[in-house]
This record gives sequence, structure tokens and C-alpha cells, in this order.
Amino acid sequence: MSQKSFSLAVVGTGFASTFFLLEYLKHARKDERILVLERGRRVDPALRLQRRGILGGPGFNDLIINRTPQKGWVQNIAFGGGSCWTGNTPRMHPNDFRTRSLYGVGTDWPLTYEDIEPYYVRVEHAMGIAGASEGPFPRSEPYRYPAHRFNAFDEVLAAKYPGQHIHFPSARSSSVETGRPVCCASGVCSVCPISSKFQIDLHMAQLYDDPRVTLLLDAEVERVDIEAGRVTGVQYRREGREQHAAADLVAVGAHAIMTPFILLRSGLSDPALGRYLNEQISRDVQVDLVGVDNYGGGQAVTGLGAMFLDGASRRDRPACLVENWNVPWLRAEHGRWRQRALLKFVFEDLPSADNHVSLAPEDASKPAIHYPRASSYMQAGFDSLEGRVTELLSGLPVESFYILPKQGIGGSAHIQGTTRMGTDPQTSVVDADLRHHTLRNLLVLGGGSFPTCPAANPTLTLSALSIRAAERLFV
Ligand SMILES: Cc1cc2nc3c(=O)[nH]c(=O)nc-3n(C[C@H](O)[C@H](O)[C@H](O)COP(=O)(O)OP(=O)(O)OC[C@H]3O[C@@H](n4cnc5c(N)ncnc54)[C@H](O)[C@@H]3O)c2cc1C
Repeated sequence: MSQKSFSLAVVGTGFASTFFLLEYLKHARKDERILVLERGRRVDPALRLQRRGILGGPGFNDLIINRTPQKGWVQNIAFGGGSCWTGNTPRMHPNDFRTRSLYGVGTDWPLTYEDIEPYYVRVEHAMGIAGASEGPFPRSEPYRYPAHRFNAFDEVLAAKYPGQHIHFPSARSSSVETGRPVCCASGVCSVCPISSKFQIDLHMAQLYDDPRVTLLLDAEVERVDIEAGRVTGVQYRREGREQHAAADLVAVGAHAIMTPFILLRSGLSDPALGRYLNEQISRDVQVDLVGVDNYGGGQAVTGLGAMFLDGASRRDRPACLVENWNVPWLRAEHGRWRQRALLKFVFEDLPSADNHVSLAPEDASKPAIHYPRASSYMQAGFDSLEGRVTELLSGLPVESFYILPKQGIGGSAHIQGTTRMGTDPQTSVVDADLRHHTLRNLLVLGGGSFPTCPAANPTLTLSALSIRAAERLFV
């Protein structure tokens, strides 16, 4: 093997790549050489806190051409990827994997909840997730760490919806046994001031010290090299120069905008590549309470409402997950400061081939992004919101509610769908093992593989898929 020849090249150091690497290293030979190329740098958490900003690397908007600015996109370009995440880690609902069969919409995933369940458990243990065994999410093992305390409004909701309003599973530590301090519930998760929230750059960085791993920061992967139906390595830009590294296997985990961009630049032309870009869109609702002094919960998002997560209505309108936020959202009324709550309704969507990432003729170094409007399915969800809120709150000590105005199309910072998984190469890019349909030594990691857009936050699921993909290489 020459100096620049590797058994595996991994692109990116976010959740998708790191959980893949975690599992891969368990099986890899002692003499394997693994190259990891990361476009960003390490960001000092103190500096991040000082800046009070979520982004550690270059501004993401400078790295893309957004053809439809009414829809914003955000990604953290830095060692560890999305360290600014909030840390919400719900599982997908079992029926999210088969909406076509059950409701005639979307597409079925090429794997089931039961297939992914053991990998959910492994990621939950690795991230030190706090949660309780409740709600419509069958578990083979309990969470290792206790759920965080509800806030006062959660108690009210849980009494009306037993088993449906549950503790929000989260990567914000609830026990020092995780090796991290217990969440201080200050509500500034994007720059967790006490490093309680699980982050790759803080809590899994040691993986990159493995002697088999060579980590190059500030290395922007531009394309994968392809020869005779196989990937042979990667081309990257570092220190102002184009460089190549040969690899027997390549795993790209640059997130759902940059990953398809790298593959499109490499000359891949799968019909679905770059298409079906999606994310959930959420709406915030302020609720004024009567006689309930709210807050006091153990973390930033304390309650998960699963009452609208599934059902026959999904034929016509999206499911939604209700988040009860425990951030001080105060009411300007003496003696009733805390008699207010903030709910977030997070809607699923039906991904559309029209929303896509493409090459930009005017600038080869940036992906162009097109997302002109929310789907009519999503719109049906927005239209149903007032009725759903009314139903949710009926009979509760609530004075009034107010749906906060939206800016542009809105979103959730959960980019998904551009390298979707499936069984048909005409409509998908990878199989259930995240292997490209024709370039079998290319793995495409991350939420880009999601063929539908469930209401759940994606990071737990995409990390579980990465562990599974690495394990499947060795069976
Ligand atoms: C403010 C915010 C809050 C969020 N909260 C939650 C939450 O509560 N729960 C949840 O589930 N999800 C949340 N998310 C989403 C979560 O951050 C993503 O789902 C997650 O980071 C995706 O993991 P990934 O590894 O696919 O991508 P990333 O974490 O983005 O990692 C991709 C990596 O690839 C690198 N990279 C990109 N291009 C290249 C290139 N050309 N060459 C080399 N390297 C490259 C990047 O620098 C990065 O390190 C949130 C996101 C944001 C922005």
C-alpha cells in the first residue's frame, strides 16, 4: 500500500460518520488504515459560547446557492458536525416505516422498526440518552438513564393523555453516570454551557485517536473517484491543493446537501440523486394557562406529545409530534409570569422530487438548492393546526392560545432525503444497508437516506442506520 492508500475513507465527522466509524473499528483488523476527511476545524466550546452562535465553521449560506431563499438551511461545518443540535432523540414511530402500505402515502422503507430497534438501543446507550419506557415505541431494553423531570404543564397534559404525553428522550444528561454533568435546564442547548448534552466533538472525539485512523481537518472532499464500476478513492482540497487518496471502501457522511453534491460532482446520475430534499416544518404555539405556574422541568424540552403521531388521518394530512418546551417564555402580567407554555407542533411531510440539490452552472464549488414551497400535504397540516390545538387543550386549565407567525416557509434544521434508500435504483440511491445500488463499495450515510420525512427528529435514527451499515459489512 502506498502512503496515500487506505482500506476505508470516511467523509465528515458528524453523527453519521462517527457512529459508522465506531462500529467499523470494532471489526477492523489491527493493521487497517482508515482516512477521515473533515472540511471543518475543531471549535473551542468556550469560543462558541462567547460568540453565542450556533455555527463553528464558515457560514453555511456562503457555501450554498439557495435558489429559493424563502426556505432557509442550516448545517454546522466543523469537526463533530451538528454539535449545535438541541439533543432531542425520539425514535421514529413503528408505522413511519410503512406509510404506503398503511395509508397509501409516501413510500415504505426497505427495513422495519423491528430491524432497526436493536441499533436504536446501541445509540441510546452510547449517547447516554435520558428517557422512560413509555409511548408507542416498543423497546427491547430500557433506557440506561432516567427521564428528566416534567414541567408543570407536562403534568397537566400527561394526566389527560396517559401514555401519549411522555417524557422527551434526550441527549441532555440526567445522570453523572453518563460521564457528563446533569442538564442545568438553562435552555441554551445550541451552546450547552456545561457540556451536558452529548456532542461528537466533546464526547466521542477519542475515536479519532485510534492508531488506525488518520484524521485530516480542513480537507474538503470534492468528489469520489470512480473506475470500472467501483469507487477507487476520494479527491479533496487541502492547503490550497487538490489531493487524492486511494481507498477500497468509501463512506460519505457530509449531510444531505453536501453528500449529494459530492456525488453529483463525481459524475453519478442516479435519477433520485439530489432529489426529495425534505425536512419537517414546525409551528410554535403560545398557551396562556390558568393557575398553573409552569416551568421547573429538568431540561429544555420536557414533554413529547404522541397523540397525533399516527392514524388514518395520515392519508390526507401529516402526522405531527408535539414538543413541550421548558424555556422561560414569560407572560408580562404581574403574578402570572409563569402561567404560560410554549408548544412546538412538528409536522411530517411527503418528500417531493421537485425539491432538490443540483450542480450550479455558474459556480462549480457550491450546490444549488431548490425548495420553492411546502407541499399541499404539509399545508393540510398547517390548516388543521388550530383544530388540533383546540382538541389538545380542551378541558385543560387554559385561557387562550396563539399560533406564532412563521417566517418564510420555516423548517426544523433536519435536512433529509437526497440519497434515499429503497429497492429500486430508479427511485432510490442506496439499499437498506446504505450501499449504493451499483457502486457497491460506496456507502452513503446520514438522513439523506430517509425515503420519507417522519415527524421525529432524525439524528438517533440516522446514527442507528450508520451502526447497522458498518456491522452489515462484516456479516
Ligand atoms: C440548531 C439545530 C438543532 C438541531 N437539533 C436537533 C435535535 O434536537 N435532534 C435531532 O435529531 N437533530 C437535530 N438537529 C439536526 C442534526 O444536527 C443533524 O441531524 C445531524 O447533525 C446530522 O448528522 P450528519 O452526520 O448526517 O451530518 P453533520 O452532523 O452535519 O456532519 C456532516 C459532517 O460533514 C462535514 N462535511 C461537509 N461537507 C464536507 C466535505 N465536502 N468534505 C469533508 N467534510 C464535509 C461537516 O463539516 C460535518 O462535520 C439540529 C440541527 C440544528 C442546526
